Amino acid sequence: SNAIHSRPLQPMTKSKELDGYVGFANLPNQVYRKAVKKGFDFTLMVVGESGLGKSTLINSMFLTDIYSAEYPGPSLRVKKTVAVETSKVLLKENGVNLTLTVVDTPGFGDAVDNSNCWVPVIEYIESKYEEFLNAESRVTRRQIPDSRVHCCLYFVAPSGHGLKPLDVEFMQRLHDKVNIIPVIAKADTMTPDECAYFKKQILNEIAQHKIKIYEFPEEEDEEERKFDKVLRDRVPFAVVGANTVVEHDGKKVRGRKYPWGVAEVENLEHCDFIALRDMVIRTHLQDLKDVTNNIHYENFRCRTLAGLGVDGKPMKVSNKNPLAQLEEEKREHDNKMKKMEIEMEQVFEMKVREKKQKLKDSEADLQRRHEQMRRSLEQQVRELEEKRRAFEAEKQAWEQQTGHSIEELRRRSLEANSK
Ligand code: GDP
Repeated sequence: SNAIHSRPLQPMTKSKELDGYVGFANLPNQVYRKAVKKGFDFTLMVVGESGLGKSTLINSMFLTDIYSAEYPGPSLRVKKTVAVETSKVLLKENGVNLTLTVVDTPGFGDAVDNSNCWVPVIEYIESKYEEFLNAESRVTRRQIPDSRVHCCLYFVAPSGHGLKPLDVEFMQRLHDKVNIIPVIAKADTMTPDECAYFKKQILNEIAQHKIKIYEFPEEEDEEERKFDKVLRDRVPFAVVGANTVVEHDGKKVRGRKYPWGVAEVENLEHCDFIALRDMVIRTHLQDLKDVTNNIHYENFRCRTLAGLGVDGKPMKVSNKNPLAQLEEEKREHDNKMKKMEIEMEQVFEMKVREKKQKLKDSEADLQRRHEQMRRSLEQQVRELEEKRRAFEAEKQAWEQQTGHSIEELRRRSLEANSK
């Protein structure tokens, strides 16, 4: 057989100590230095109605004006339809470069009829997957810039009444395409009790609708796990954003000042901002990228390579709309049936003609035989007539010769016999 024979590797049951320094202990440093030199890229998408404080929160998270003067926050722009806009900034911290792309979706949920307002969002996410797939399929795959969306912060309005139908719909449609982290916007507009109840409501609804939001993985390390749990238990993060620094108890803090006090952004007793920022940037940025690559992008790649459209249905060969295609198929079928009918009629006619011809032929044959028979019978009649006449003539000749009448002789002989 042509099986490949190879010696099985010795199972690595024991690790071996080396007799000297070989050098691969330096591997982590190599990886580290290379990664740091390359820098990191991360794409964060924010989705939610305008005015929920999305741009303020992003600026607070990265402590910079990502939304510059010529690119104001979405609420300052009037939009009728959902647009997808990106802004890219290069951030530096202790010599580490992070290229951050923020994807905004102004207009989301702002219309009276918000059906399909997730479509541009899905299209954007999948276009980035497609770009990556195309780059990956090229022969020379040098470094592929990763512009896939690694995380989607979904802003829930602080209504206190749970999720809106649009929130549910959006998350259901996007949860297998991107890491969704739900956040409660403007948490300072709720009391702590209201907020705690609202969180419970939201988590219940997420479970009830089988929505899969991004799950922060368990850390191996016991200490880290304990620390993480405190943060993880705060999902959905109730956040406060502010771009202003205010005086509070003699300290300068980022927060929102009210007559009754200050809502501090970076205080875990006031809101979950720090928990969100720590988990997204400090501890789980790489995991968000890994999950994007290993799960969401892999799903997309499989769907695409299996010849399925992005909606999971087989890709249409033509780009006609399905109704027109159905109509055409029906027309084709009708035509086929008509053709078959015509063919059948032709065959039938041919058979009838054949049968008629056969009948005619056998009739003629019969007639011919009948004629033959008639003629032969006539011939026989004629011959018999001839014979009779000849016999008559012979009889007459004999009577004349003998002077006896045959009738007379016969009568006498009959009389003699009866005596
Ligand atoms: P966006 O349209 O979602 O990007 O919202 P913006 O960031 O432009 O914020 C809209 C308004 O809400 C601005 O006046 C902000 O000052 C205010 N805002 C932003 N974040 C908060 C917050 O956490 N709490 C409160 N009360 N107001 C906020």
